[in-house]
Amino acid sequence: MGRQLHVIGNWKMNHDVQSCTDFWSELDGEDMPTTVAAGIAAPAPLLSDSLHKCPFSTKIYGQNCHQALSGAYTGETSAALLQSLGCAGVVLGHSERRQYFNESDALIHDKINTATSQNLQAVYCCGESLEQRKAGEHKSFVRSQIENSLFGLEPAQLQQLIIAYEPIWAIGTGETASAAQAEEMCAEIRQIMASKFGQGAADDLIILYGGSVKPSNAHEIFSQENVDGGLVGGASLKAESFVTLLRIAEELMSA
Ligand code: PEP
Repeated sequence: MGRQLHVIGNWKMNHDVQSCTDFWSELDGEDMPTTVAAGIAAPAPLLSDSLHKCPFSTKIYGQNCHQALSGAYTGETSAALLQSLGCAGVVLGHSERRQYFNESDALIHDKINTATSQNLQAVYCCGESLEQRKAGEHKSFVRSQIENSLFGLEPAQLQQLIIAYEPIWAIGTGETASAAQAEEMCAEIRQIMASKFGQGAADDLIILYGGSVKPSNAHEIFSQENVDGGLVGGASLKAESFVTLLRIAEELMSA
C-alpha cells in the first residue's frame, strides 16, 4: 500500500475562542475524508476546545513543546501535557521557532526525543532560506539540519516522525516552490534518511511540503511521487479552504 496523504494545518498565532468554534462548527456538516490523514496544529490555549469540537477523524497537534517533561519553565508547554490532553503530535523546528526563538538543530533533536517518549508524533520542519537557495546550498543545508536533528534518533522513533520540507522563502509569502522543486527536495530528504536508516524505513516515511499551499496549487504538489501532502499555514485558517485541500488529497488517494 502506498503512503497516506496528510494535510496538516498550522494555525500559528491565529484564531481566538470564537473563530476556533466557528471553524469547527463549519466542519461539522462536512463528510470528512477517511482516506486522508487530517490534522490541525492549534495554539496551546485552543487545543482543548479543538480536541472536543473537531471531527473524530481529525488529529490535533501542538505547535511546540519544551524539551523537558516538566519543571520551572514559565510559559512553556510540555509534551506530557499535550499527550494527556489527547493531542496526536506536535510540530517541531518550524522556521519561525528557529528564527524568532533561536531554536537550534540540537535543541530540536532533544524536543523530538521528548515528544516521541510521550507517544506523540513529531512533525519535524526543515528548509532553506532564499539566500541559500540562490547560492545553490539548499541541499547541503537541509542535509545538515537532518543530520543534526534526526540522525541521532533510534530507528523505532521513525514510526512517530513526519518530515515537512518548508523552504523559508515560500512560507507565508504567497510564493510557492514549484511542484518540481518540492518533489526534488522531498526525494532528496528521503534519500538522506535512507542513507542513515535504510531504504525500507525511508520509503515508509511521510514527507510533506509546506509553503503557500492553497487549493489552486495543491493538486499538482500533492500528486508528486515523494510529496505525501502538505503542512499548510494560511489556507488552513478557513474551514472551506482546509476542506477543499482534504478533498483534493482524497481524490488523489482514490486515483
Ligand atoms: C507553515 O506555517 O508551515 C506554512 C507553510 O505557512 P503558509 O502555508 O502560510 O506558507
